[in-house]
Amino acid sequence: MSPQRDQILRELGIGPQWRLREAADAASEVPMEAVETVEEAAGGRVAPAAVAAPSVARAGSPVDASNMNWSDLATAVAECRACALCAARKQAVLGVGDQQADWLFVGEGPGAEEDERGEPFVGQAGKLLDAMLSAIGIKRGENVYIANSVKCRPPNNRTPEPEETAACWPYLERQIELLQPKLIVALGRPAAQTLLQREVKIGAVRGQLFDYKGIPLIVTYHPAYLLRNLSDKAKAWEDLCFARKTMG
Ligand code: SF4
Repeated sequence: MSPQRDQILRELGIGPQWRLREAADAASEVPMEAVETVEEAAGGRVAPAAVAAPSVARAGSPVDASNMNWSDLATAVAECRACALCAARKQAVLGVGDQQADWLFVGEGPGAEEDERGEPFVGQAGKLLDAMLSAIGIKRGENVYIANSVKCRPPNNRTPEPEETAACWPYLERQIELLQPKLIVALGRPAAQTLLQREVKIGAVRGQLFDYKGIPLIVTYHPAYLLRNLSDKAKAWEDLCFARKTMG
């Protein structure tokens, strides 16, 4: 294990549980208890899942982003008042990263620091996300775009309401259309529900390969959740290995 990877895994809080596999791929270090699961997943146990009938609303937004380019999106989001979340924001947070990225990570919504700085996933959860990206060989700003389901901070960091997610959906939908990533990783339940259009439990949908308009989509835990639930970091690492193999 290289010192850098060792440090990353320590940041993820799972270093002591890991061993080096013989495989030469970049995602070859997995927890001992996770090897079988990941290999089974890569070997075809996991099939693309049909997206169920919608039960998480996307319809009803007054926003029409269907013809927007990146510049239009930035302007529209900055001025948007399509839902109640505009009231308490300091600034809307569109997203950050490479607009030709192969990877798209989608979270829930901006927190206090994100609202302050205008960038998604800064602060402690952002540091963990950066470590997660680094662990699979990618880096913020290079071949990865990071966005949220809602672009304005929900008060007290509460979960966005369904009508807020629905109001904001056209922006994320258009971001995905413009990006055309090779893989989408949904971070946490709200992001997964927004993209899959149905109620989900992370424990039930992680490890599966979904399809979003022809783009592979996988689901894992939100970094903020992992900061509070250290025991699930090993599962997140399994998911990242699965993502890396899927991308490969
Ligand atoms: Fe507009 Fe989205 Fe902000 Fe609501 S959360 S005001 S829809 S940008």
